[in-house]
Amino acid sequence: MHYDDVTYNIREKLLKRLINVGIIICLFGICEQMLIKPHIIALFPMLFLLAALVAGHIMSSKYNRTDIAEIIIGVVAIYVTFPIIYFTSGGIRGGAPIWFVLGLFYIIGIFNGKKMYVFLTCAIIEDIIIYVTGYIYPELIIPIESEGKIMIDSAFAIIFVGTFLGVITKFQLNAYNRSRKIAISQRDEIEKFSKSRNAFFASMSHEIRTPINTIIGLDEMILREKGLSDEVTENAETIQNAGKMLLSLVNDILDLSQIENNKMEIFPVKYSTEDMFNELIEVVRYRIEEKGLAFYVNIDSSMPSMLYGDAKRIKQVLLNILVNAAKYTKDGSVTLTAKSEAVSKDKCELTISVLDTGIGIKSENINTLFDSFSRGIGRDVNNIEGTGLGLSISKQLMELMGGEITVDSIYTKGSNFTVVLEQKIIDAKPIGNIDFLVRKGSRHLAYRRLFEAPDVRILLVDDNDTSRMVITKLLRETKVQIDQAKNALEALDLTHKKYYNIILMDYMMPGIDGREALQKIRRQENGLCKESAVLLMTAEGDSSIINKIMEEGFDGYIEKPVQGNGLEASIMSFIPNELLEFKAKTENVVVKTLAGETIIKPNVLKKKLIITTDCVCDISTGEAKQLGIMQVYLYVNTPSGRFKDTIEIGIDNVSSMLEKDRRNIHASAVSVEDYENFFASRLTEAEEVLHLSFGKNMGKSY
Ligand code: ADP
Repeated sequence: MHYDDVTYNIREKLLKRLINVGIIICLFGICEQMLIKPHIIALFPMLFLLAALVAGHIMSSKYNRTDIAEIIIGVVAIYVTFPIIYFTSGGIRGGAPIWFVLGLFYIIGIFNGKKMYVFLTCAIIEDIIIYVTGYIYPELIIPIESEGKIMIDSAFAIIFVGTFLGVITKFQLNAYNRSRKIAISQRDEIEKFSKSRNAFFASMSHEIRTPINTIIGLDEMILREKGLSDEVTENAETIQNAGKMLLSLVNDILDLSQIENNKMEIFPVKYSTEDMFNELIEVVRYRIEEKGLAFYVNIDSSMPSMLYGDAKRIKQVLLNILVNAAKYTKDGSVTLTAKSEAVSKDKCELTISVLDTGIGIKSENINTLFDSFSRGIGRDVNNIEGTGLGLSISKQLMELMGGEITVDSIYTKGSNFTVVLEQKIIDAKPIGNIDFLVRKGSRHLAYRRLFEAPDVRILLVDDNDTSRMVITKLLRETKVQIDQAKNALEALDLTHKKYYNIILMDYMMPGIDGREALQKIRRQENGLCKESAVLLMTAEGDSSIINKIMEEGFDGYIEKPVQGNGLEASIMSFIPNELLEFKAKTENVVVKTLAGETIIKPNVLKKKLIITTDCVCDISTGEAKQLGIMQVYLYVNTPSGRFKDTIEIGIDNVSSMLEKDRRNIHASAVSVEDYENFFASRLTEAEEVLHLSFGKNMGKSY
């Protein structure tokens, strides 16, 4: 047997070694006994022991029964051999006491558990009895004849027991060192494996996200087309959903690997409670209502309006339980309830629950519900798609954020998932009564460009041809000028010749990567884009890595796959107002910055010029509206009151009044105050106002 052979445990290995050493010692012992010749029976114990060791050797080597071998040796040595040695070889005046030490050492080293305690107790009692008997009845002890022989017997015992114990200790130490070495090399191997697994996941994330980016991006282009048939729209929407589903699957697997490697980090940012719930509800509402389920939302009006926490991860957890509620409910409703309770001056505890009237969860499945890859079993669940990862990730994310997720469920009746989480309060102002469900709409919101900026020059750096094509197409409506570069060298050539307002930079590129390219652009001799905004385009889902990248000096980042107006919104936030020719009155847009997600409420852009006129110019209302010409109206004073000319009283009414009562009908000129108010309002809409007016003898007021 080789001692590194892992099929034997350490005790078995030790026993086998002890047997070998024991046999040698016995043979020496017999020689020693013959030398000092105390008494003929003094030879027997050594012969017994030798027989026991040989039997032990046969049992362990031939029959593989080390358990029996260790008992045979233990019983024969401790309870037979050593007592006989004591009484036949001079009692305490000989080597016997040292053999007793070996007995105790053998028991502790070889036996385990109950067996060890029984053997040890018996051995101690036996030793005491032997000592006491020898003390009371010294005549029972056969003394060793001379001091010289006592010395030899004792020295023999010390040398051999000492060697024996040394062998045991050395063996244990070697075994420990060997297993330590194995553990270290295994740990290194695991670390190496885990590193390469992480690298694999990172590159897989990039590799998978790039084609998903293309699918979702080009599909978005199809959906932007006007006049599509219902079937094409439906197909395109299905592709969009499947693409997003694939993406969420990749994200789940990546999240799980991050969590397992203790690499998942929480990134708290300031966030608006209202926006967080709005975004969440907007995403799930369609899925819930599509199944014909009612969706109720009760968000406590006293909820603080701004909080501090990892809004992205909170949304991820809530999204998962809301999507599950929709998935596992056939009919009835899904109810989202959220309330907050102050725990200190600047902290509150959020309790958010999702209640459904779905299939429920069997009580025996509740305990494993949050384990990875654990899915419900049975007809109800089998045909519902899922991986069993969502709840496990949610639970671990909640733990990382210092919160918890729990579930109450009645099988066949429904489930209630509750998330409890403490958040810092940034603004305690209550969000008030908001109807979160008010923005009803179709699944695919019609595309509207966010801005037009034909003078803005963008340099798009990406090694993937399709990615560049998709981004160029997605930005088509904004009319920005886009130059493309396949790699950092091409990009540097362009930044040397031309100024770009914004550079969109892919991170993973062969040769010079995005990070290095950014540094080169910033330091480029005679470079024209040292100050340009450089936005990182990344397919990386992991926010800790993104943050690390951002710290390298990027001005912002765009997460791939780019979707809908997200790309335009991110770019728009880096375009100075004077270059925006058109800016849609949008809802808030979320832009990713180094500090996290920032919500931008766009200003309504001023037009360059507005043309106005006086209503006496007699432009028809329809024409004025069509041309966007605003008019300053006179007042018509009549006995029945004062009316604004044209809008409140038409020319026909005025003519008929004049026919009846010419004296009491007269117009009043526009006052200074009226003009002031009119132009003040117009100047909030445009940089300049061109007012056209007809008239002679203009008064001072005019
Ligand atoms: P998936 O939904 O992808 O299977 P999850 O981790 O999100 O994975 O959920 C694990 C399991 O928990 C599901 O397979 C399902 O059996 C059960 N489950 C989760 N949410 C609900 C719910 N609202 N109602 C009933 N069962 C649920």
